[in-house]
Amino acid sequence: MASWNPEFTHEGLPMRVRMRPGALADLAGEAESLGLNRMLVLSTPGQEETARAVSNALGERTAGVHPHAAAHVPTTSADAANAAVRATGADGCVAIGGGSAIGLGKAVALRQRLPVIAVPTTYAGSEMTPVWGITDEDGKHTGRDQGVLPTSVLYDPELTTTLPPRTSTVSGINAIAHAAEALYAPNSSPLTALMAEEGVRALAEALPAVTADPSDTAARGRAQYGAWLCGSCLATATMGLHHKLCHVLGGMLDLPHAATHATVLPHVLAYNTPATPHAHTALRRALGSDNPASALRALASTASAPTTLAELGMTPADIEPVTERVLAAPYTNPRPVTAEGVRGILRSAMGES
Ligand code: NAD
Repeated sequence: MASWNPEFTHEGLPMRVRMRPGALADLAGEAESLGLNRMLVLSTPGQEETARAVSNALGERTAGVHPHAAAHVPTTSADAANAAVRATGADGCVAIGGGSAIGLGKAVALRQRLPVIAVPTTYAGSEMTPVWGITDEDGKHTGRDQGVLPTSVLYDPELTTTLPPRTSTVSGINAIAHAAEALYAPNSSPLTALMAEEGVRALAEALPAVTADPSDTAARGRAQYGAWLCGSCLATATMGLHHKLCHVLGGMLDLPHAATHATVLPHVLAYNTPATPHAHTALRRALGSDNPASALRALASTASAPTTLAELGMTPADIEPVTERVLAAPYTNPRPVTAEGVRGILRSAMGES
């Protein structure tokens, strides 16, 4: 007990979360309880069919479907969704999909302060965070605004059985990254640490089961449980070197978001380990391994996901400009971020050592 000396500030999340197979049937009731009568359904083009099912589930409360969400929320996409909301007289949105569709919902909430119900179908955890992102010709701009937090979140594992194992796994490792960095964030808290460890455990157990049987709704539900917890960590704690690196790699080289997280995370964790003994211990417990970095690589390999940045298209010539950009505006990190340190992480994530 001698070392028990908690000192923290913790800000909880205000939204209602429902999780059960078949939760889509609760959507119209959820809209009614929020006083919403005309909801525009947002999705990517690839999920238009699911978005139509969501629109049907809303019954008379639907304002139609806008299936034009795109990765990283281009300004043109944000403008079009905001215009569609105005044109249809919608009083709120349902964002069905992964971080791209939910990101578009946040772009509407940011401008018009309308409520959003999120129906997540990947495991990236964006639905739990006040972090928004919009991309223009100058790159991706992000910020935190409590006003973009979804008002309600419906997790229905039956809607995720179509998500391919590889996409499932890399989006789940993206969520694990939120939890891993929350464990060593300067503004972490005991509750955040509990959520982080349990979230990582749930995803590490569920993702191989999802790969083995994509129709396993129990495993899908457990993965959503993990995504909920890990996303909640990102909402309450700040990001470190890992998120900074992925942000720069995505922005400069246009690498795929979730797969980039999955390839980079083991290398940043290995770099930070000497400065983060408590996080390391929690991750060892959660992953059931003495070596969290190699356990995460094995997790990606189970789903035949890429494990090097070279496979994603990065070349050795990219190392120096990426390093410079990371150092130009570094995030807080438990271990000092040096040029040699960043180069070393990038080289090993490229598969060079
Ligand atoms: P995504 O939303 O881009 O989805 C990936 C692909 O999977 C898309 O083509 C989509 O149509 C498809 N898909 C989604 N669900 C499906 C399903 N159930 N069945 C079949 N196909 C399905 O990917 P993502 O990894 O969820 O999100 C990435 C984006 O989210 C990035 O832009 C990232 O910056 C953002 N993000 C934001 C936060 C945050 O807190 N703001 C957190 C994590 C990710």
